[in-house]
Amino acid sequence: MRPEGPPASRSRAGVRLAASLLVVLVAAVARGAEGPDWAALGREAVGILVDYIKVDTTNPPGNERRAVDFLKPLLDREGIETRVIDSAPGRANLYARLRGDGRRPALVLLNHLDVVPADARFWSVDPFAGVVKDGYVWGRGALDMKSLGVLQLVTLLALKRHGVPLRADVIFLGTADEEAGGNQGIAVVLGQQADLVRGAGVVLSEGAFNFLRNGRVFWAVNLGEKSPVSVTLTATGTPGHGSMPRADSAVNRLIAALSRVMAWETPIKVLPDVQAFYAAMAEFEPSPVRERLGDLATGLQDPAFRQEFTRNLSNNARVRNTISITMLEASNKINVIPATASARLDVRLLPGEDPAAFVEQLKATIADERVQIRIATTVVAGSSPDTHPALEAIRAVARAHDPQAPLVMPMTTGASDCRYFRQRGTPCYGFTPITLRGRDGEGFHGNDERVAVDQVIEGTRLYYEVVRRLVAD
Ligand SMILES: [Zn+2]
Repeated sequence: MRPEGPPASRSRAGVRLAASLLVVLVAAVARGAEGPDWAALGREAVGILVDYIKVDTTNPPGNERRAVDFLKPLLDREGIETRVIDSAPGRANLYARLRGDGRRPALVLLNHLDVVPADARFWSVDPFAGVVKDGYVWGRGALDMKSLGVLQLVTLLALKRHGVPLRADVIFLGTADEEAGGNQGIAVVLGQQADLVRGAGVVLSEGAFNFLRNGRVFWAVNLGEKSPVSVTLTATGTPGHGSMPRADSAVNRLIAALSRVMAWETPIKVLPDVQAFYAAMAEFEPSPVRERLGDLATGLQDPAFRQEFTRNLSNNARVRNTISITMLEASNKINVIPATASARLDVRLLPGEDPAAFVEQLKATIADERVQIRIATTVVAGSSPDTHPALEAIRAVARAHDPQAPLVMPMTTGASDCRYFRQRGTPCYGFTPITLRGRDGEGFHGNDERVAVDQVIEGTRLYYEVVRRLVAD
């Protein structure tokens, strides 16, 4: 539309053209207010995920520098400020930041760049080929957690592209080494570059997926997780020749100690957050399960219900400290009775438990002075508050999307980088707006890990909306 020229000189066609341009302009403004082109953004997210899965960041050894080299240009080319935090040869963390007006504390979008190993012999596709078939993106990291990392990245891109006025800074933090405890990842970032996230108000990361149960989609947010404690048992005994067995050998002592550990039923303890989760689930269960879950501590006093409830491994791990015997070591020669034999136990403590007190209980259970117990604790896990603007943002998006969808808050039995933030007093919430249906979750750390394409596309929009509510509304 040319501004010059008197209105009287305009033709009818010119007026119609002006009117239609105005309609286009208004529509464009409305679109801008609504946000991105969701279908296009969703497709972009799927494309990034497919290529990201091809970047092999199996830990060990990690090689997360490859992931940094893949993700950083996607941020750089949009003019988003980035920084690389090297932690070891071949290993690095990626930080990016969108600046807001500072009226609210910064939001950290936390993801890890590494994945656990995949044994291709047991997969039906190459775990690092980024295969798309049957409506799924297949590959190691599809669930844990390259998909959520991509939702976070694309959210940053969309906020930047649309020039959304931000009340808070939004930080993208991709860390190395999460799958091996975080010493080469989040521990380095918080130890050497703590300024990068200083004053952050809240962290969103992994820990829960939405899920389908009895035909209903449940939205899930994780508030807390268990503390991993690595325990080493070392038995000592008299060494000798294998042709002359001795009852008091180190191996025999170790096996006896481990049998006592296996027989030990750690006490049941229903924490308030755990009770709240099961009470929320109970509403959708038939009687008498509903009543049992509604008051779990009482319900679990019934041996029959306790047996049924704890048969489910997640249920069991949410109500007690657990022990998995995972590593064994003794003689390296068949005819040598060794002087020492050792075992490692993967112990997971409920939030709030004291590792030293647990070791005392373990010592009493083993009851053998010649079996030494050593522990290595990384960071003791805690929980985030069950009321927070982040939770309200998630609840609001859930309601807008599916008014019937319940929001539940399961404790995760695994460990994540969230615990480093929770320990510092920064709330961290595990949230992934991808719904796991049927057997979708089975590939988690297992074979044929995959994520539904439609869920990644949908998740792109849902994640953006949660973040926008938190930092822009
Ligand atoms: Zn993970």
